Amino acid sequence: MSEQPLWQQIQQGGISTNPGSTDRIQTGDWRTEVPVIDFERCTHCMICWVDCPDASFEVADTKLIGVDLKHCKGCGICAQVCPTKCIEMVPDSAADRDTNASANGAG
Ligand code: SF4
Ligand code: SF4
Repeated sequence: MSEQPLWQQIQQGGISTNPGSTDRIQTGDWRTEVPVIDFERCTHCMICWVDCPDASFEVADTKLIGVDLKHCKGCGICAQVCPTKCIEMVPDSAADRDTNASANGAG
């Protein structure tokens, strides 16, 4: 079995020297799957909003209204934590992205 290096021995990768830069950089390009919300079953409990690591859920008047697809990474955490299981992760092809952006109320 080969010996693995300690994390302190691994060479540093990219370093963000400009916190808050995701306002300008569309990190959603990393995604392979996209969340689609069935709003008929959504209770607006906001658990997905709390647990999303990218603050990608859009809210208006205390209601969930969509997903910011410019930043959602497609991690699927929201689908896992949703108590009504009304979020489905689907493949994010270019065609799906347009459809889902519209369906989710996000552009
Ligand atoms: S966790 Fe599910 S039910 Fe709750 S707001 Fe999000 S999508 Fe709606
Ligand atoms: S898939 Fe991940 S990044 Fe995208 S909305 Fe859900 S929890 Fe947030």
